[in-house]
Parts: sequence; C-alpha cells; structure tokens
Amino acid sequence: MNHSKIFLLVLVISAMISCNRTTISEVEKTVAAAAPATKTKAKNVILMVGDGMGLGQLTAGMIANGNKTNFDKFTAIGLHKNSAFNDLITDSAAGATAFACGVKTYNGAIGVNSDTVAVKTILEEAEEMGMKTGLVATSTIVHATPASFIAHDPKRKNYEAIALDFMDVDIDFFVGGGSKYFNQRSDEKDLYAQLRTRGYQLEDYFSAELEDITIDPNKKFAYLTAIDSPLPQAQGRNYLMEATQKAIEHLSHNSPNGFFLMVEGSQIDWGGHANKADYIISEMIEFDNVVGYVADWTKKDQNTLLVVTADHETGGFAIQKGSTQDSLVTAFTSDYHTGVMIPVFAMGPFSEQFIGIYENTKIYNKMRTAYGWKDE
Ligand code: MG
Ligand code: ZN
Repeated sequence: MNHSKIFLLVLVISAMISCNRTTISEVEKTVAAAAPATKTKAKNVILMVGDGMGLGQLTAGMIANGNKTNFDKFTAIGLHKNSAFNDLITDSAAGATAFACGVKTYNGAIGVNSDTVAVKTILEEAEEMGMKTGLVATSTIVHATPASFIAHDPKRKNYEAIALDFMDVDIDFFVGGGSKYFNQRSDEKDLYAQLRTRGYQLEDYFSAELEDITIDPNKKFAYLTAIDSPLPQAQGRNYLMEATQKAIEHLSHNSPNGFFLMVEGSQIDWGGHANKADYIISEMIEFDNVVGYVADWTKKDQNTLLVVTADHETGGFAIQKGSTQDSLVTAFTSDYHTGVMIPVFAMGPFSEQFIGIYENTKIYNKMRTAYGWKDE
C-alpha cells in the first residue's frame, strides 16, 4: 500500500469515527486537495535530439563549459538501445524513424518501415488531432532527422522528394537549412509559392535575420536558414536558441489541443564524423544552452513532457586525460557512428517512464502514452 492510499484510509476511518459530522464527499474533497497533482496526460511534447551525442560528447561539452551542464536539471534519466532493423550500427534516418514512427527500419529509411511502407509519424498524428506541430534543425530541414518526422521516402538522399512531402502536412512552424530544395529544384516546382498559397508566412536568410522577423501568430511559419547545410556554430551560425524560443512561443499560442515540437542540434554528429573535438564541443555547448532554456520553460509550463536524447553516438569519442578546468585530451575510434547505448533525459508529466533501459522505438510509445493516446 502506498502513502496516499494509507492517507486515504486514515481519512476515511477518522470520518467514520467522527460520524455524521463529515460526509464522504467532503472526505473526497480533502483527499483531492491533499494528494500531489498527478497529471493524467501531457498537453505538449518537446523532443530534443543531439545528433551523434553520446556521453563523451555531453561530458566534453560540460567540461569545456566550466564543468557545468543544463542536463543536471533532469532527474528522470534512462538509456536506449539504438540498433537498426538489420544493422547493429544505426544511421540518423533509421534512428529518427524509430522515434517518429516506433518501428525498427533499415539505415537510410525516412518514415518508412523495413518493407519501405510509409508509417504515420507522431507529428502527422498530432497534426491530425488538431494539435500544433514544429521542427527546428541546424542541418537542412530535409536532412534525415527532421525529415523522418514529416516525410516518407525509401532513401534519405531524395531531398527534393522529401521537401515535396512538406506540402502534405500542415506543420505550423519549421526552421532549418536547404532552401534550394524548395525553390531551385530540378523539376522547377516553386515550393516557396506553394507554401505561401497554403497560408505560410515564409521567410529565408535572404529576406531577413530570424531575430528581426515579427511572426504572425495566426499564420503558419517557415524560415530557411541557408541554401544548403547551415554553417557550423563556430563559423557564425547562431539561430538554434532563437528558432527554439520562437517555435515554443508560436506553438503554445492559442493551442487548446497542445503541440509536438522536435528540435535538433544536428552538427554534434558532424564534429564526430570529422574527428574534431572542438567542432563537437562548440555544437554541444550551443545545444546544452538551448536544452537549459527549454527545461526552464517546461518547469514553468507544467503541462509539457520534455525528452532529450540522441539517435546514436558518433566517432567513438573518448576523454583520455585533462582536467575539469577545461584542458582535455580526447581520441576517436571511428569516423562513423558507434553502437553504445544513448542517454535519455526527461522531465514533466510522465517523465518517470523514461527511467530504465529500452529500445529506441519505445521513445515513440512513451511519448504517445504521455499524450494519453492508445498505444498501437
Ligand atoms: Mg541529424
Ligand atoms: Zn552521422
């Protein structure tokens, strides 16, 4: 018997003893007021993905940042097993499809199962249920991680086809690179025009800086940050915080049914592929700062489940020597992804479900449970 049940029993017994003076409904009211507020569901879910972010990356970012990390705001922490359908080592397409669709698929698959059949994503389902939806990435918006939440394609490199899939979903907010897949296409379709016809306020790096744009709260919003891949943070890219803040403001405005938002720190992975510790660390510190902002917002909101994780580790990145004062000697065992388990950090309603060790596909199931949706 847990404490609240014992408390209830004591109240009921004392009510019976005091007889006639306290009605049962008054006892119920007392119990309801005294019980901790347990949410029956999460109104909103924010999933943050640090692509290629293993514990080495997270720790190196922490040490380089004065031995401080915003990940210490979380108390519900678990690990996910991230193998792909037919490969121990996953890529970002199969990894993100596991989060978005709850299926193990082959490397390179975007929102399709191991038979290349399209599987509805959590973002599409949220959209169908009248919720608001958003994607923010520091890669192109058609790159594997964001693409897997909105597109269905047997091949991750089919960027123009993936951009076309954005025309089939009424996503309310997206920010990322890759404008050329929308307005310099080999089929000469003008997806900028199509988005505007479909009610978007559409802007890009060419028209204005994101921070200078006033977003119309009553329109859908899209902003393309670069022709192709955005720059590394260390070379001047600086929009992840701004885009995430604007996304949360836009999606939480006038949204009685709640929202789903995926935010990706895309280039931690690229630092791993390049075997460059400095690249990993600068991307990691940026992502950590944004995690801190979103965690603080989530704590205040109280209706949002926040989940922060990675799809896989990249580089076999290790910390070999150094000090917590910032000097680090690091090493790599690979220029590709590795198969180690990946940490998962959660807070808000239903965050306790993320404690433990489970397959990456369970992150999809756990987010659905938090929304109060029946599991399939
Ligand atoms: Mg990615
Ligand atoms: Zn990668």
